[in-house]
Amino acid sequence: MAARIFQWKDLQRSIRELSFVGPRHLARLKRLGINTIKQLLWHIPSRYEDYSERSPISEIVLGERFSIQGRVERISSRRIFPRRLVVTTAVMSDDTGTIRATWFNQPYIEQFLKPGTIVSLAGKVTLAKTGPTFSSPQFERVDGKNMFGLRHTSGLVPIYPETEGVSSKYLRTLVRPLLALLVLPDYLPNAVRERNGLTRLSSALKTVHYPKTQDEAAAARRRLAFDDLLLFQIKALLARRIINRERSMPIQYDQAHVRTWVAGLPFTLTKDQRVAAWEILKDLARPFPMNRLLEGDVGSGKTAVAILAADNVGRAGYQTVFMAPTEVLAVQHYETAQKLLHDTTIALLTSSRAELNGKPIQKKPLKTRIAKGDISIIIGTHAVIQKDVKFNDLALVIVDEQHRFGISQRAALLHSKLITPHLLSMTATPIPRTLALTVFGDLDISVLREKPENHGTVITRVVSDMERDASYGFIRNQVRIGRQVFVVCPRVETIVQKPDVAMAGTRQIYQWSLKDIWADVKAVENEYKRLSQTIFPDLRVAMLHGRMKPKEKERVMHEFKNKKYDILVSTSVIEVGIDVPNATLMIIENAERFGLAQLHQFRGRVGRGEHQSYCFLFASSDTDRLRALVKCNDGFELAEKDLVIRGPGEFLGVKQSGMPDLAMAALADTELIKKARFEARLILKNDPTLTHFPVLCERLAELEKLTHFE
Ligand code: ADP
Ligand code: MG
Repeated sequence: MAARIFQWKDLQRSIRELSFVGPRHLARLKRLGINTIKQLLWHIPSRYEDYSERSPISEIVLGERFSIQGRVERISSRRIFPRRLVVTTAVMSDDTGTIRATWFNQPYIEQFLKPGTIVSLAGKVTLAKTGPTFSSPQFERVDGKNMFGLRHTSGLVPIYPETEGVSSKYLRTLVRPLLALLVLPDYLPNAVRERNGLTRLSSALKTVHYPKTQDEAAAARRRLAFDDLLLFQIKALLARRIINRERSMPIQYDQAHVRTWVAGLPFTLTKDQRVAAWEILKDLARPFPMNRLLEGDVGSGKTAVAILAADNVGRAGYQTVFMAPTEVLAVQHYETAQKLLHDTTIALLTSSRAELNGKPIQKKPLKTRIAKGDISIIIGTHAVIQKDVKFNDLALVIVDEQHRFGISQRAALLHSKLITPHLLSMTATPIPRTLALTVFGDLDISVLREKPENHGTVITRVVSDMERDASYGFIRNQVRIGRQVFVVCPRVETIVQKPDVAMAGTRQIYQWSLKDIWADVKAVENEYKRLSQTIFPDLRVAMLHGRMKPKEKERVMHEFKNKKYDILVSTSVIEVGIDVPNATLMIIENAERFGLAQLHQFRGRVGRGEHQSYCFLFASSDTDRLRALVKCNDGFELAEKDLVIRGPGEFLGVKQSGMPDLAMAALADTELIKKARFEARLILKNDPTLTHFPVLCERLAELEKLTHFE
């Protein structure tokens, strides 16, 4: 491509226009999410190999990485037959000595590095039969043909997230010439850059690929991350603005009734529950829709708060829909609602069940009564949002574990009428504050941090392989005294290695998901077989995984709840909210593969009844990290630890948010997020339609497209 990149729209051109991008490469690059020049330039290195110092050959030692410059003295290839290998060996020299270099199955190198060529080599030096040797080093000729300078063997050399057929070397070949042509105008005003100590966009892009120092690289990443964080903040603020313009039913807060109700509860609300209820009731009284997330560990009392809100809505003469991700959970909420509310009509509607105030009813008359507005609270699964369910006066939608309902479903509900219902979503996933501000910036958040008093603590232990047999004895004992056991296993090690945080990009993760589900299934099946046949042939063992039909899953969960099984082996994706008071032992296999917050959630599935409960973390490594769980029982604290140790990719909703890698990595940087938030507010205040920020508008549209696939 000869033309310079002067304008943002140049970035939208296809990489097809570049040299060295043929149809085959096009397809491979697509797998990395690279279709346009923009995507190529924003394919950020995950790290750099440091060849900033060139070594004299005489100073080379074994086992380390070196970069040298020298003359090719001899080069030749030979075939090793049994292994069908072609080995190319070169002898290199400089003023201080000679050294060999070998490559495998790349005989063309012989043509490229003819004797006499001056070449720059970089790579690891290992010991071969003939002495220290560069094994498969990067190489480039040092001559007039290298227009854009050395790019593989000198300085800090970028290593990119790769895929089959797309190596870092190839990516460098594409990127380096582009950088030389890059003169992109910065869309961030000078003032914004200066206030926040941000480098210019063009230079940030150039530097992030080829920095002189690691500090320079960090500054470049910071600038690029800021752009993304800013974009997410603007997106959130715009989403809020849209919601605030919609109309919803203002629901009067019936203070006297709420007081009486609270006083009549079989327990005292925690302070957090009261604060959350108050925030929700205040939101409900407004003429524009609430968009609030109620966050709290399993058992923190979210449902009680949600039911209080629903009751208030019902007394004002409006309807509430309360959706759960599974039938078991819907039934659980329905039972809780019946226990806590006495003079309210409450219905249950799932694909297989319909009830009204505790009595079975045909679906059709139930739907008719819902449409007439006879029923205040309708609790159920997806079945309650089907087209054939019409409401009379829907004012509040409560969604438990919202991540399981796609954004689009939520939107369909919210925009079904002229009047938009208030939305309360609930989640047991603790979300660190910086993350909440960025990824869920369009939501208001209420947090239940405090636990109701009746909650006994779960005794947690990290169990090494040596203690495994003893643990099985413990399981047997629990079963003998009538208790039940959960076993959670993570997927077997999958084909794809886990990317490090900087590379944990959305695109890659999307590609793996299907493979991952299968790996999950396999892990569960293996463990199920092992436990049911070898270890506990005399106990009743069941299994649960994501590939089972929803009906079948419901059946197994239901039967477990009704004590038909002693042990339930499941994947990590099984619903967190399930309430089995008789289950007292949670076993987590390969616990080292999970984040602390997620382990904490698993643990929350036991300790829900009157019996002392236990959580055993089976782990062969990483036990120090896991021991945090023994001492700490606060999901938020653990989530913050995860964010620092493992990065944000672990958190639900983050991968789906379309957030680019760099911004993900920057989520641990509270200061930068605050700055982005401040600037986003300011920009929108001065320029509500972003007239002066066409680039931002364009990128917002792009992001919109990306997240729509969820
Ligand atoms: P969550 O939905 O957050 O998992 P729930 O609302 O289902 O939690 O509450 C778990 C259990 O604790 C329920 O049996 C509920 O009735 C009870 N509960 C709720 N709030 C309190 C409280 N303040 N004190 C004691 N028990 C409570
Ligand atoms: Mg719950």
